[in-house]
Amino acid sequence: MKPFDYTVPGSVADAIRAGAAPNTRFIAGGTTLIDLMKLEVETPQHLVDLNPLAAIDRTLATIDETPTGGLRIGALAAMSDVAWDARVKERYPMLSQSLLLAASGQLRNMASMGGNLLQRTRCPYFRDTATPCNKREPGSGCSALRGFNRTHAILGTSEHCIATHPSDLAVALAALDATLHVRTGGSAGAGGTAQRTIPATDFHLLPGTHPERETVLRPGEIITAIEVPALPFARRSLYLKVRDRASYAFALASAAVAVDVANGRIRSARVALGGVGTKPWRSRAAERALVGKAPTAATFRVAANAALEGAVPRTDNAFKVELAKRTLVRALTEVVA
Ligand code: SF4
Repeated sequence: MKPFDYTVPGSVADAIRAGAAPNTRFIAGGTTLIDLMKLEVETPQHLVDLNPLAAIDRTLATIDETPTGGLRIGALAAMSDVAWDARVKERYPMLSQSLLLAASGQLRNMASMGGNLLQRTRCPYFRDTATPCNKREPGSGCSALRGFNRTHAILGTSEHCIATHPSDLAVALAALDATLHVRTGGSAGAGGTAQRTIPATDFHLLPGTHPERETVLRPGEIITAIEVPALPFARRSLYLKVRDRASYAFALASAAVAVDVANGRIRSARVALGGVGTKPWRSRAAERALVGKAPTAATFRVAANAALEGAVPRTDNAFKVELAKRTLVRALTEVVA
């Protein structure tokens, strides 16, 4: 691991100032960053520890009601605390399930909600500094295009990167129309900072010609909270994850679904896919295919076909097209049962 220095900020404004410096990374749970620093995939010269900020502003790590009936989840809250929160389990089962199906119990106790959204891809070439990778070293090429690409994405890819987005949580948040609260510098607002909000569906970027840019965050910006709006029919929602090992693995395909059925017809639906996209994949095409229809196997199959339209499979991952469709059909079938 390369040497680095370590800063404990005294306030959110301090953290933003320190975090905006070149070659600087924030650290919270550290469950992704430390791994990547050991591999020398990430080589920051400065680390800014966000954890002490929870003692200054408790809402950075708590789960609170919003005035409109939703939940505001502090970005420093541990994944395990959110997964087992009674309100999260009751109102947004897909959110709780997406957390419980991610990582191991030990990692969930360490990893923060904000860090989960910022985790890097599991593409093996990204983690191997001996191979070309446009995401790690822009302009060097993409080893996965002609390499072993069984776990790679089939939606949202480009000729520069086909890496799968790894977060399960981000898929559930996309389906729930969550919003990220971000604290940014350069204003006379709270302690010399300002707030901005970003819809979860707009937070991650497609790789395009710049796969090294993964989110819309600007240097020094900190995610402070995740707001999940009230959505009564999300009480019947589901996150279904298909993976190589049930104990601990990233998704080959996953589906976050919520369906509102009344008088034998689907009134409203939410669909997002994981394990197949270069970003969390909200499928409004699938939702349109469901609304107004009877909740039958035939309807679900039409929605699944719509969700995977435009998929670009590669040599080793063509199986994901049908796997993702079946995952979505099964999730929809289970959630309306
Ligand atoms: Fe790098 Fe993306 Fe290609 Fe993987 S798929 S080698 S992360 S550029």
